[in-house]
Amino acid sequence: MKESRENPIRRVMIRGLLVMAVLLSMSALGGKGQSPASWRTFSLQAEAGSAASLLSKNNPPEVPVQDLPPAAVKNAEAEPLQPHGSGGSAYTLATDPQASTLQKVSAAAGTSNQEAKSSKATRVVYLTFDDGPSAVTPRVLQILQEQGVKATFFVLGEQAASRPELVNAIWEQGHAIGNHTYNHNYHDLYSGFTEFWRQIKQTEETVRGITGVRPQLVRAPGGTFGHFDNTYFYLLKQAGYEVMDWTVDSGDSSRRGVPAAEILQHSVADLDSRSVVLLLHDGSGHEQSAKALPAIIERYKAAGYEFGLLNAQSEPVQFRVSAQAAALQRVKPSKAWISANIVPNAELFAPGKPLALEVGRLETILKPGEYNLRNGQYFVPLRTAVERLGGQVGWDTATRSGLVSWNGRTVTVNSKKQQMEVVQPDGAVELKTAEIQLIGSSLWVSLRDLLEATGHPPLAASVNVEERRVKAL
Ligand SMILES: [Zn+2]
Repeated sequence: MKESRENPIRRVMIRGLLVMAVLLSMSALGGKGQSPASWRTFSLQAEAGSAASLLSKNNPPEVPVQDLPPAAVKNAEAEPLQPHGSGGSAYTLATDPQASTLQKVSAAAGTSNQEAKSSKATRVVYLTFDDGPSAVTPRVLQILQEQGVKATFFVLGEQAASRPELVNAIWEQGHAIGNHTYNHNYHDLYSGFTEFWRQIKQTEETVRGITGVRPQLVRAPGGTFGHFDNTYFYLLKQAGYEVMDWTVDSGDSSRRGVPAAEILQHSVADLDSRSVVLLLHDGSGHEQSAKALPAIIERYKAAGYEFGLLNAQSEPVQFRVSAQAAALQRVKPSKAWISANIVPNAELFAPGKPLALEVGRLETILKPGEYNLRNGQYFVPLRTAVERLGGQVGWDTATRSGLVSWNGRTVTVNSKKQQMEVVQPDGAVELKTAEIQLIGSSLWVSLRDLLEATGHPPLAASVNVEERRVKAL
């Protein structure tokens, strides 16, 4: 994330200098009308655009954000009337069941050369890696870092549980994490929806335990084609997940040991599409995929592509339901099962709502993903919450504790002991047990515990259609 932060900052600075240069030259030319006040307005306006993009990049690792060209992202709020897939192209799967690539249909075919040229600027490729993390993943991460590129990793729960440090490394580098089920076993997964669901939830809990965030993107092992029926698609959508297939298959799993040259060739077979979701693997034995990766990235860069991160708002790529899958006559989950499992699950991802913290005279907004709601309790990342409300947070490695200095008090938030030691303004010391989690390299604490320990007892909590809000003294 570091590199991607430095550039915009530099851009803002350069832009600021340019604005100053223009203003200076204007005044040097005798611009009498330029009062200092209007200079200020001008320069603020000039910077507003860049400041906004800078803010979007300054999200903590809990919410990795990457510049995405607007065309590749559905923005339901900003453009409620846009038909789905505003680029005018839809995807359907070729009728050949072997085919794992998609055919673009409709408007794309009629796109004039001129339109194709103008859309060139916003072409985006989403690199996706399935089946990891494995011994191949560190090499993939290293290449992505060297190339300054982000990717999406559809992890297997089984692998994630045995290599949590790699899941953490993926997350900390700002890549996206999707759910690829727990064991990848087709027989289990496609015997009926409830087993598929069980594995999605199991993997989700594994990833959440490592990163603190539930993956909302799902990729079906083997892709949805021939596997998913309408029930799978419908219930996953109802539960708040976004299913994502791919548009280009690198072919790296078509047989054992596919050589890097062949993977490269398949990966760059289509350099004309506005949006490419490229299927690669970082599971065990996929060293050749890592070997091919630098050249794949270079070819897409040379063709003018930007590298996007998939998220639940990305335009979904989904194969159609095959006649074979539709005819499987699997047992459908009962209404009671659906209302017990699917309906409440959607609430987990409903957070479109931010959490406003009103503490004393200060207020800050935690975006969805910057807070958790568990068993009716809010959990927040200690540093983010405290620093935005005017306090300071230090870190003690030996005791894995956060040291909060806020409101005249010093509070040691100890994750090992699950307690907070509060030194009051008058020097009195008080110990409180508290729920504290170390997730990745961030401490998450119960908001109530934090506010009480720092002398800001909560006064009220409310929820409306736009936001959640907690008021404290
Ligand atoms: Zn897979």
